[in-house]
Amino acid sequence: MRRTEAIVIGGGQAGLAMSRCLAESGVDHVVLERGRVAERWRSERWDSLRLLTPNWQTRLPGFRYRGPDPDGYMQMGEVVDFLERYARSFAAPVEEGTTVLAVEPADGGYRVATDRGDWTAPSVVVATGHCDTPVVPAFAGGLPDDVVQVVPTRYRNPGHLPAGGVLVVGASASGVQLADEIHASGRPVTLAVGRHTRLPRVYRGRDILWWLDAMGVFDESVEDVFDPKISRSQPSLQLVGRPDRATLDLPALRERGVRLVGRAAGAEDGRVFFADDLVAYTTAADSRLARLVQRMDIFAARTGLDAEVGPPEPFSPFLWPDEAPTEIDLRAEGIRSVVWATGFRRLYPWLKVPVLDERGEIRHTGGVTPFPGLYVIGLYFLRRRKSSFIDGVGGDAMELAAHLAGYLRLAA
Ligand SMILES: Cc1cc2nc3c(=O)[nH]c(=O)nc-3n(C[C@H](O)[C@H](O)[C@H](O)COP(=O)(O)OP(=O)(O)OC[C@H]3O[C@@H](n4cnc5c(N)ncnc54)[C@H](O)[C@@H]3O)c2cc1C
Repeated sequence: MRRTEAIVIGGGQAGLAMSRCLAESGVDHVVLERGRVAERWRSERWDSLRLLTPNWQTRLPGFRYRGPDPDGYMQMGEVVDFLERYARSFAAPVEEGTTVLAVEPADGGYRVATDRGDWTAPSVVVATGHCDTPVVPAFAGGLPDDVVQVVPTRYRNPGHLPAGGVLVVGASASGVQLADEIHASGRPVTLAVGRHTRLPRVYRGRDILWWLDAMGVFDESVEDVFDPKISRSQPSLQLVGRPDRATLDLPALRERGVRLVGRAAGAEDGRVFFADDLVAYTTAADSRLARLVQRMDIFAARTGLDAEVGPPEPFSPFLWPDEAPTEIDLRAEGIRSVVWATGFRRLYPWLKVPVLDERGEIRHTGGVTPFPGLYVIGLYFLRRRKSSFIDGVGGDAMELAAHLAGYLRLAA
């Protein structure tokens, strides 16, 4: 049994940022990673994916992008390289190829069982990722056996899908990007649209993430919002990071020939049913975007930016399609595959501490769980709106490392 002061589970950006901050606080620790550093960026992303956050926003405690293209968007190989260099920059104590099998209370701390031996420590930090396991609706089980079903963590490129039509379910970042790429490969695509957040890539000549960053939207903390539960359930941004900085929203997809339908609601006898809610969802997304545009314009006027950025741009509301079918017969329409871009959930079968709520989520306040010495990092809106982003995890890591170091001092 090996001993240390803190065990971090997961070697993605959250685990590494935590490791860096623990090292700065003088806390002896280890990072246990079942694969390699940045494993999900290596093996759970599709071939053409680029970050949707610009390079200048790729910043972690003590490390940031310093290349020649601050406004560009990294490809996956570059993200992996960035995180590997980060780990090397402070000799992060990562034990790769080590899967955590159980975490249980022991001797006033925790015993962590792995497939490469056991560890014990007074504190544990769970950094296994917000985007852990793709969610697929239960009715997916009712689709015909000859329809290929794929989740974004398994999808690589359109060439891996059978010829024929494709139904993409979900219109947040992953769904719109995959619908666009698959449509461009020559396959007819139907996109089932649920709740989404429509955004332009560029507004008044500046990247939308520049605006959100400058206005402090991503810095908003749990205390700043009306109801953290509602804020935590917001869909991800409908954005793509491409060298041409093009906007990828529903009007753009429809213009290219993607058929839009409402939320996928069920399946039976080879037919998929869609709610009659496309208009409701697109109207809601449009009114949120209209409010944001107004907020950006007020911000520009108030801070004297009006002279520096381009003129205000009118935004065009989504024009409702003439008809959005509420039922599709997959075979009759030649639809041979379904891509479920329907979000993620988190599974902790190895966490033998009664810290999960009724939805299976870790109970915590800003990453501090009710169990002394047990922490979680990297979840969406853990402390701030940007907590699950590369640019957001650093602030949380600093605060949680300080809390953890304080706890160790007290416990000692
Ligand atoms: C498609 C997609 C695109 C995204 N694009 C962006 C973007 O452009 N910009 C941005 O800022 N964010 C983006 N994100 C969000 C976020 O940055 C990523 O989800 C990121 O991977 C989160 O890092 P993390 O360290 O919190 O978790 P992860 O990267 O998920 O790392 C968790 C690690 O824990 C390991 N692990 C899990 N279970 C165990 C176990 N039992 N034992 C040991 N190790 C274990 C995993 O192997 C993994 O390496 C994107 C997310 C997705 C899904």
